[in-house]
Amino acid sequence: MSGPFENEVTRRSFIRKAGQGLLAANLVRARHGYAQTPNLRVPDPPGKKLGWCIVGLGNLSINQILPAFARCEKSRPTAFVSGSAGNLDKANKLAPRYGVDPKNIYDYKNFDKLKDNPDIDIVYIVLPNSMHAEYTIRALQAGKHVLCEKPMANTPKECEQMIAAARQAKRKLMIGYRLRYEPYTQALIKAARDKELIGPLKVVLADAGFNIGDPNQWRLKRAMAGGGSLMDIGIYALQAARYISGEEPVEVNAMEFTTPNDPRFTEVEETIAFQLRFPSGVLANCTSSYGAGLNRFRAVGPRGWVELEPALSYAGLRMRVGRGGSVEERAHPVLDHFAAEMEHMSECVMNNTEPLTPGEEGLRDLKIMMAIYEAARSGKTVKLA
Ligand code: NAD
Repeated sequence: MSGPFENEVTRRSFIRKAGQGLLAANLVRARHGYAQTPNLRVPDPPGKKLGWCIVGLGNLSINQILPAFARCEKSRPTAFVSGSAGNLDKANKLAPRYGVDPKNIYDYKNFDKLKDNPDIDIVYIVLPNSMHAEYTIRALQAGKHVLCEKPMANTPKECEQMIAAARQAKRKLMIGYRLRYEPYTQALIKAARDKELIGPLKVVLADAGFNIGDPNQWRLKRAMAGGGSLMDIGIYALQAARYISGEEPVEVNAMEFTTPNDPRFTEVEETIAFQLRFPSGVLANCTSSYGAGLNRFRAVGPRGWVELEPALSYAGLRMRVGRGGSVEERAHPVLDHFAAEMEHMSECVMNNTEPLTPGEEGLRDLKIMMAIYEAARSGKTVKLA
């Protein structure tokens, strides 16, 4: 029979025994060095965060950039510029969600008042391409540092004006080439230059494209987009060819195809295939398309190849290395591309260092894209200075 006392003794001895067991288990773990999750990263106490003003609350801002601030330690949203259609509903709805003070909501008319707002250190331009130059220059003239989305602008001339404005204002100008800040791209660049792995680089294959929808969107209007798939998505293939080779192209060839009578392509090109020759002899074969899903970068040498596919999605990038008939998958840390990019910009401002992708990098791409269009138009190889 078991009375209440007996129950109590049993419970105590059970707890004691269980405690001894736990102690023993902890000792074993401690001896083997795994009493705690290894390498547990304990976040630092909150430090200084720079204030960011997001200009243009469209698809990219709402779905990628604003949520990315949750992963930032040096950057926080403090202001919005919105209201192109004459109402501030989007900004008013997003402000409480992201802790933006309602007094820091601007529209395009009172944009220059950003100057008087000490809550804003950096302005992020996330507008249609044709508006990048104007709002970047105005933000710089308001004394703010600027991160501008790709493509930097519609013409090399506008890029030059933006660079000059940054110099004059003594402020930083960075272009939003998010892939440069994430580990898979960084690993691809390293692997492509690893002579033990693939041998000296010979060929780069870079393809970027998607099947574009709504024929009425600004991306399909030449005046707003500056061009078609090349300006929007092909720029990733061009960037990849340049950062994988680590060189600047000296010659380009190109061929374009646009489906006749497709209502989406009345003003801009659908698909453009281009080739780049680099000084070392490396050749790049690239495709840009608004008609086909393309998402792969590959570096090839005599010993093998290394590729990313998907290569430019916001998440889920994968790397494979092929050598001697076998294919190996390699995993790398996964970072939010926009958080990584914004943190880089905040660090550059805090430490007074130059961004990895400054305005000059955007200008280089614009010049090469103009040469690609020229090669497609003329059917001739275009030499680059
Ligand atoms: P979007 O059309 O969804 O958003 C554009 C924003 O600009 C909207 O809020 C719109 O209201 C505002 N706007 C202000 N004036 C306007 C006008 N006159 N006409 C049209 N819109 C006006 O576009 P998005 O997809 O967010 O792209 C914005 C920029 O970001 C583009 O330069 C694009 O190339 C770039 N982008 C970059 C990435 C990336 O991965 N880095 C991805 C998507 C877009």
